[in-house]
Amino acid sequence: MLAASDHSAETAAPSSLDGALSQELAQLERAGLRRRLRALHGRAGARLADHGHGLLDFASNDYLGLASDPRLADAAARALRTAGTGSAAARLIAGNHELHEQLELALARFAGAEAALLFPSGYMANVGAIPALVGHRDAIYSDVLNHASLIDGCRLSRADVHVLPHADLETLERALERQRGRYRRRLIVVEGIYSMNGDLYPLDALVPLARRHDAWIYLDDAHAMGVLGPNGRGTGEHWGVTDGVDVVMGTLGKACGVAGAFVLGSRALIDFLTNRARAFVYTTASPPAIAAAALAALEIVAQEPERRARLRANARRLRSGLAARGWPVEGLEDGHIVPLVIGASEATMCAGAALEAAGFLVGAIRPPTVPDGTARLRITASAAHDAQSIDALLDVLGAALPSRP
Ligand SMILES: *Cc1c(COP(=O)(O)O)cnc(C)c1O
Repeated sequence: MLAASDHSAETAAPSSLDGALSQELAQLERAGLRRRLRALHGRAGARLADHGHGLLDFASNDYLGLASDPRLADAAARALRTAGTGSAAARLIAGNHELHEQLELALARFAGAEAALLFPSGYMANVGAIPALVGHRDAIYSDVLNHASLIDGCRLSRADVHVLPHADLETLERALERQRGRYRRRLIVVEGIYSMNGDLYPLDALVPLARRHDAWIYLDDAHAMGVLGPNGRGTGEHWGVTDGVDVVMGTLGKACGVAGAFVLGSRALIDFLTNRARAFVYTTASPPAIAAAALAALEIVAQEPERRARLRANARRLRSGLAARGWPVEGLEDGHIVPLVIGASEATMCAGAALEAAGFLVGAIRPPTVPDGTARLRITASAAHDAQSIDALLDVLGAALPSRP
C-alpha cells in the first residue's frame, strides 16, 4: 500500500496510470469523441425526468413503451417479496428460480422455438453463445456492421472471422463457395434489423443460401423481438423463415422494457449452451423479479398488438415528416430506427445538444459505434409517443440540423 503522500507523488508522474489515461481522454476530447454519462431520475412513457425541465425520449429502445408500465413493476415487486432481490448464485449452482424456467418456456412458446436460455444481458448472450458454438477449426462470416457484442463474441471464439460488406449476399456466397471443405463448422452472424441503420438484413435470401453451403445462421434480433412480424416474434416471422434460422438471440431490455436476453433454438442447442456458454455458466443468475417483469412484458407483447400498430404509425409519421423537410431516410417506411447521417462528430454533437436544449433527447452516435465519417442522430420511435411530440420534434429538427451536404 502507498502512503497518501507517495500516492500524490505517483499521480504526478507522467508514467502513472492516471497520467497515461488522461492523455488518451484528452485525445478523445480533441477528436470530439469523448463520452459522458447522464443521470436521469424518472421515466413515464416517453417523458424523462432529469435535473432540468425534463426531456422527451427519442433516444432509447423502449419501442413499445413498456419500460415504465406499472404492470411490469407490479410483477417485479411481487416477486421481490417472495424471491428476494438477488439470485445469490449461478443458475447451475443454486440460483435457478422457477421464474427463470417459466420465462424460458414462455419465450420458446412465444417464438415457436423448442427451447430458450436466459442470459443476464444481450452482450453476454453474444459473447457466451458464439464462442460456445465455434472454435479454432471453424469459420465465422460476420457482417461488417454487426454490434460490438457480436464482434467480441467472434473474437473470443478463436474461429477465423471473415468480415463481409453489409448485407452483401453475393460476396458471402462467393466466400462460402471458395472456402468449402476448409473448416469444421461455419457460422453466419447477422442482425435482423441493424441497430444504427435501421435496415433489415435480407433473411429470406440468407436462409436458402446458408442451407446450400452447410452453414448455420446466428441471428441477433435485439431490435426486432416484440416489434417485427404480425405477432412481434421478430425478423424470422417478418420474413416467414423462422424455421430456417439455427440460433436466435433476442433481448428483454429493449422492446420488452426490462433487462436481459435469451437464445432460442432446438433443445440440443439450449442444452449445449447450458453446459458450454461461459457467460451463462460462470455468472450469477439475474434476479427472479426481472424474470417476473419479463413474463408480464411478454404477455403484453402478445395481448396488445395495438402497441406495434402505434409504433409503426409513429415511425411513419416521423419518417414522412423528415422526408417532407428534405431529410428522406432509407429503409422500411415504418422502420422504428431512424438514422440521420450527418458525418462529422462535432456537427452531430452540436445538433444533439440543440435538440436537448429544446427538450428532446435523441441519440448522437459517433465512431466507433458507427464507421468513421458517418456520425449520426439516431432517432427512435416508440408506441409511447403521441403525434404532437413527433411534430414538435420535427419542427425543432429543422433548426437543429446542419444544412444537407
Ligand atoms: C443492445 C444490443 C445488444 C446487447 O443487448 P443488451 O441486453 O443491451 O446487453 C446486442 N446486440 C445488438 C444488435 C444490440 O443492439
